Amino acid sequence: MGEFGLIDLLAKMAGGGDERLLIGIGDDAAAWQGDDSIQLASVDSFIQGVHYNPAITPWQEAGWKALAVKLSDIAAMGGIPRYALVSLALPTDTEVDDVKNLYTGMLKLAKQYGVTIIGGDISNAPLVAISITILGSSPTKQILTRAAAQPGEMVAVTGRLGAAAAGLEVLSKGRKLDPEAATRLKNAFLHPTPRIAEGRLLVEQGVKTAIDISDGLIADLGQICKASQVGARIEVERVPVEPTVKTAFSERALELALSGGEDYELLFTASAEVVDKVKKAASCPVTAIGEITAGELVTLVDKQGNPFKLDRAGWEHFTNR
Ligand SMILES: [Mg+2]
Repeated sequence: MGEFGLIDLLAKMAGGGDERLLIGIGDDAAAWQGDDSIQLASVDSFIQGVHYNPAITPWQEAGWKALAVKLSDIAAMGGIPRYALVSLALPTDTEVDDVKNLYTGMLKLAKQYGVTIIGGDISNAPLVAISITILGSSPTKQILTRAAAQPGEMVAVTGRLGAAAAGLEVLSKGRKLDPEAATRLKNAFLHPTPRIAEGRLLVEQGVKTAIDISDGLIADLGQICKASQVGARIEVERVPVEPTVKTAFSERALELALSGGEDYELLFTASAEVVDKVKKAASCPVTAIGEITAGELVTLVDKQGNPFKLDRAGWEHFTNR
């Protein structure tokens, strides 16, 4: 059935919400109309052996990443993260220093983004599981959703892609690179930066549709297309591949950028005019890479408009990394 099929099944069982609910199951975060502003909430588990491998991701980095992933989901809604609840499952032989390191990593990121950890719980389990609930809000009446893309809009992305997946390969396969490049790629994998300011900027410039790139550009674009009931056509040569990845992985760089995942950049759709405004106002690169089409297929084309073949279209989270 897979992760996404199961989510669909459970969303059907849970049914609709109440009249204040704006967005329920199936987006980066849930959204509801609070008394003064739109409120946002989202939860994720970061599990040893499933979402991370402790030999690659030490305790501090695991703490940073587990929270960064949640902040990124609030960024994808155009919101501001406020509070986090942290639920830890730990093997009985876990050292106190390890848990302190976990919190050190988490708190470094939390402080940077003005997020306060306000609760949670600790229980025993055979493996480490870090489950974080993030609460946020939107300072304006608009938020971003996956479900508002329209045929004819451009597809655009913040930043550059492929560095996190390349970093994972450097860490897991011990691939030899020049030390500076290796450090940059490893850091992209271990310390992703959520695009909170950029998410806000998208809302301010009139963007309605966005997702954060967690599973890979193609897979996450597929989520926008599914939610919006549209298709997309991506010109692969326009995809902004991180230069270090190009140098180090040459012919595989594009594949890492298209399907690698964990870059936590924002993928959005908007009119050409709005994309241009975002580009001018953003402090990071913003690149148009294709357009939204009718139908529900994501197609990849090369410069000449010929179909571009890709072996793996992103992944679901049932692999050991
Ligand atoms: Mg997301």
